Amino acid sequence: MHDIKENYRKIADSLPPDVQLVAISKFHPCQHIMAAYEEGQRHFGESHQQELTKKASQLPSDIQWHFIGHLQTNKVKNIAPYIAIIESVDSIRLMREIDKQAARNNRTIKILLQLHIAQETTKYGFTLDECRQMLSSGEWRQMKHIQICGLMTIASNVSNQQQIQQEFNTAAQFFNEIKTTYFPNDPNFSQRSWGMSHDYHIALQCQTTNIRIGTKIFGERIY
Ligand SMILES: *Cc1c(COP(=O)(O)O)cnc(C)c1O
Repeated sequence: MHDIKENYRKIADSLPPDVQLVAISKFHPCQHIMAAYEEGQRHFGESHQQELTKKASQLPSDIQWHFIGHLQTNKVKNIAPYIAIIESVDSIRLMREIDKQAARNNRTIKILLQLHIAQETTKYGFTLDECRQMLSSGEWRQMKHIQICGLMTIASNVSNQQQIQQEFNTAAQFFNEIKTTYFPNDPNFSQRSWGMSHDYHIALQCQTTNIRIGTKIFGERIY
């Protein structure tokens, strides 16, 4: 517990004030989450719906939960009552379902559009062209219960720092394109979620606003 608090403080204290730290707590128990909570952390991220629902019911209600994993449409209803933001939105179908379930709960759910920029073929997300096409179709404008707040991406899991930097810069440039084209007057479209334990220092040089850190706070995950 002491380690978690120390790890957390080191990272939190080193960040510029305009960067949001999201503590990724998947596979870590509630007591470990509480160690970071006691240090003042309120934004936590999880990638599995069942695990999140269980933890959310046991932990303080002022935690802002970020969903960061692949989300099946039939699971949306389980998190719609309380989720703060869904960062991993990768299809128009999922957007329709989030809009529908948010409406049922009388709320607006914030989302980020996940981009597939990395080399790996297993990663989810819109390609840049798919994202452009989805936005130009305009259907999202009718979805009154979702708020598109920005973009999320995961860089390739490689040691080549230049490649990672190039991927984050691609995302940053794309953010500017989408902001100018579709959200010039919408201050809510402002979030750039990139950077994890091993590459957040690179993301900090590439206009990130949300870094998602698990291992560097909580230690290695035991699956
Ligand atoms: C697990 C995960 C993280 C955190 O990864 P670490 O390497 O432990 O910091 C960040 N983002 C996503 C989407 C994840 O699934």
